[in-house]
Amino acid sequence: MTAEKVRVRFAPSPTGPLHMGGVRTALYNYLFAKQKGGDFILRIEDTDQNRFVSGAEDYIVEALKWCGITPNEGVEFGGEFGPYRQSERKAMYRQYADKLVEEGKAYYAFDTPEELDAMRERLKAAKVASPQYNAITRETMRNSLTLSSDEVNKLIEDGTPYVIRFKMPRKENVRVNDIIRGWVVVNTSQLDDKVLFKSDGMPTYHLANIVDDHSMKITHVIRGEEWLPSAPLHVLLYEAFGWDCPAFAHLPLLLRPDGNGKLSKRDGDRLGFPVFPLSWEDPTTGEKSSGYRERGYFSEAFVNMLAFLGWNPGTPQEIFSMDELIESFSLERVGKAGAKFDPDKAKWYNQQYLRSTSDAELAQAIKPRVAEMGYEKSDEFLAGVCRMMKERASFIQEIVDGGTYFFTRPESYDEKTVRKKWKEGTSAHMEALMGKFEGTDFSPEALETTFKSFLEENELGMGAVLPNLRVLLTGQGMGPGVFDIMNLLGKGECIARMKEGISKLSSQHA
Ligand code: GLU
Repeated sequence: MTAEKVRVRFAPSPTGPLHMGGVRTALYNYLFAKQKGGDFILRIEDTDQNRFVSGAEDYIVEALKWCGITPNEGVEFGGEFGPYRQSERKAMYRQYADKLVEEGKAYYAFDTPEELDAMRERLKAAKVASPQYNAITRETMRNSLTLSSDEVNKLIEDGTPYVIRFKMPRKENVRVNDIIRGWVVVNTSQLDDKVLFKSDGMPTYHLANIVDDHSMKITHVIRGEEWLPSAPLHVLLYEAFGWDCPAFAHLPLLLRPDGNGKLSKRDGDRLGFPVFPLSWEDPTTGEKSSGYRERGYFSEAFVNMLAFLGWNPGTPQEIFSMDELIESFSLERVGKAGAKFDPDKAKWYNQQYLRSTSDAELAQAIKPRVAEMGYEKSDEFLAGVCRMMKERASFIQEIVDGGTYFFTRPESYDEKTVRKKWKEGTSAHMEALMGKFEGTDFSPEALETTFKSFLEENELGMGAVLPNLRVLLTGQGMGPGVFDIMNLLGKGECIARMKEGISKLSSQHA
């Protein structure tokens, strides 16, 4: 017997930008599928037309592409189980709802919104904790279980709006086997007669989801914990249709950094970090939210960080490429407890990826930004800047922002350094030092030797001279090694900067 091919799906609803928790769900599905030699499918669940947001589907596809999570099948990717957008599968759902009605497992319900409200009020008045349409209340409502078949036919012929509800069995234990949580048992007395088919001719999420998972041959349903309450109904629906149930894995929630509640879409940028992979502008309100991509994150760092929000390899290794994640991932090592998002850890990941990127590649990345600022520099020069700056930066942009002095002469000089270090005789010393440098080869080693012999000859300490030299050349109080900077800037430029700085600072101190 050949084992069944693993097929998993990521099934977002296009109701807005994808939250980073959604990206993590997609990632875990992808890692699981790839490890098992299976397929990863992208299905768009757009049956709720009221919540449809234009641009959301494109956003989802772009976000997955940016992360390197490439579906084998799905909207935009094609495949033999399509269409992969539920609105385009609309015609096929009705027959399944009808089948359940024929078999007495579902029924038509004609209740108006007013009648439903009145039922809830009645139950509230009778002190029922959670009033719902269920095995007991259905007896008192207008549906095909309480009305005669003639009445039902007449209502339908007259075009009376109706929904199709699932006939939830009374007081039965439903057992859901979850790979992460083990057996979850729920009694049907807790569950209501969910609507499967709506009066607008569309299936609800529950019906469409089960029908599609079955017809797309999905073997494992890996999704967020917020769907766990729906799982017992889904198990019952599989049973009702006589279909095999896929395996379930409900992933832990992503929590805010303080552990206080779920990290939600509405958190936007409020907590000081993005909750979306890419930036987003709401098409109706125009409200803008930032994204990890635009904040300068490497997609590899973002993916690596996300993988660790709920999973760990059980070893100290923290840096994983996508291939390594595919190799090491397992649902058994996904925790049940909510995973706290740590924005500092996200930055740390980016810093690690920045450090491991070659100077030549970083040079290409900063080139357009440097050009935008109006500077034209050789690739070699830019690579030199990156080599020195990457240890001090977490983001590519910080290389440029923190190293503008590589491109242009300082306009001001770090006040604190000047106040503490620039003394009476400093100008004269700096002039003398400049003279020595003029006659030196500009390799970092030669510069250092010249500098040290200058200190000895003048009986000066490193701390009295080096900060002043740095401030003359860069305007800054801190930065990479001064002799490395000098070597990159070259003799002509360094001498010019020293001259200019000495004259400005000595006039300030006159
Ligand atoms: N459409 C659901 C969502 O938006 C899918 C839930 C599931 O994976 O079953 O997350």
